[in-house]
Amino acid sequence: MATCFWWRSCGAPHVRLVLHDRGLCRVAGSWAPGRAPLRTYVPGRGGLPTTLLRTNSFVGGRWIPAAAAFPVLDPASGAELGRVADCGAPEARAAVCAAYEAFCNWRGVSAKERSSLLRKWYDLMIRNKDDLAKIITAESGKPLKEAQGEIMYSALFLEWFSEEARRIYGDIIYTPAKEKRALVLKQPLGVAVVITPWNFPSAMITRKVGAALAAGCTVVVKPAEDTPFSALALAELANQAGIPPGVYNVIPCSQKKAKDVGEALCTDPLVSKISFTGSTATGKILLHHAANSVKRVSMELGGHAPFIVFDSANVDQAVAGAMASKFRNSGQVEKHVSDALSKGATVVTGGKRHQLGKNFFEPTLLSNVTQDMLCSHEETFGPLAPVIKFDSEEEAVAIANATDVGLAGYFYSQDPAQIWRVAEQLEVGMVGVNEGLISSVECPFGGVKQSGLGREGSKYGIDEYLELKYVCFGGL
Ligand code: ADP
Repeated sequence: MATCFWWRSCGAPHVRLVLHDRGLCRVAGSWAPGRAPLRTYVPGRGGLPTTLLRTNSFVGGRWIPAAAAFPVLDPASGAELGRVADCGAPEARAAVCAAYEAFCNWRGVSAKERSSLLRKWYDLMIRNKDDLAKIITAESGKPLKEAQGEIMYSALFLEWFSEEARRIYGDIIYTPAKEKRALVLKQPLGVAVVITPWNFPSAMITRKVGAALAAGCTVVVKPAEDTPFSALALAELANQAGIPPGVYNVIPCSQKKAKDVGEALCTDPLVSKISFTGSTATGKILLHHAANSVKRVSMELGGHAPFIVFDSANVDQAVAGAMASKFRNSGQVEKHVSDALSKGATVVTGGKRHQLGKNFFEPTLLSNVTQDMLCSHEETFGPLAPVIKFDSEEEAVAIANATDVGLAGYFYSQDPAQIWRVAEQLEVGMVGVNEGLISSVECPFGGVKQSGLGREGSKYGIDEYLELKYVCFGGL
């Protein structure tokens, strides 16, 4: 919390800051140095729960080894956690076939039955939450407490979509023609390909897969190469929950094969939908793939969330919010710091690798930040808070919007008129007003501009996996 006081001193008496930093979701995995002990198990494979630690791919309800395997490392210690099936394009196509076959039955399963299967999966996640959290911590490097939080958050998506599964309604429309009635049906899209990142390996899966399965779609998940164990552990639990073979498939692969596997999945004519969370650059590649066969897409891409503290703000509240939203689960990369320093920024605190070792970076506060610095417009995967001072609301909003991404934005103000104005003017998909933690399964998650397409979670999330069909009844 020491950095908070630095913020006070750098702008006193009225601290006015725009902190450009990574978005609340696109934060990535290691710990926040300076906190309490983070691990309660022996790093490496030895301390992990064997019941859930799967290394084969999961296709058509079966665990299938691949010809090759790739190592998965604990990012904190570098220890090898295990060797996982390295699937290629042929395995990807086989998984799509299995998912398509399963779809032909799954789409006909009643909404109530789909709902109760998702609920069983949720119950199993809760029962196994401690083991799942250990797996997340081991493969992503995030603190155990945060991994436990992620598991609870992830499980809630399964609970939420088990409830939403029973609320997929259509419409009846009265047209000017008396002898006709128009019906709108909502039908599952088909096979959905789900490609996930490493920072929230469990939540990204349940948020997408929960919606897909509730809608009646089947899925093939390609997890990030660093974090395949969470997706595979979830497959084990899906199996135990009785989710039919082929409905949830997982094909892990190494970084080397990601391009080929991604292309095979996203160009397959049996696939109707691509749901991706990751970098904007990869998202654009997948959009190209999708274009050729006109597939539906959901893209949750990079963010660069502004955090604005206006004159009227309760600064203590703002500091707490900044810590909660910005220093949670950050990665450890240092290029943005050196770039900023070379262009005139000043280190207020931190600024170098942490004494804990080369994989850790000190929480860093930079002042005198200008918009030409990389940290002002590129997503920083690290515990870095660059501070830009501003003089007017218009200027703050202009700085916040001067980026081609727009995932989340936060601001602190006690002025009701200003709150309305700024909330409406920020070019983002999600706004936190006097609040740093805004994610919830009940609310729509997603961004505007190059932060993505579509919304996840909430009552809207399920629409991403549904097709509208208009049926006209004549001769009445
Ligand atoms: P991050 O910044 O989270 O690492 P990436 O976009 O590199 O974002 O990775 C997110 C996911 O996209 C991972 O599962 C990764 O394997 C996958 N991926 C990376 N490149 C490609 C590609 N060319 N085609 C398909 N998937 C890819």
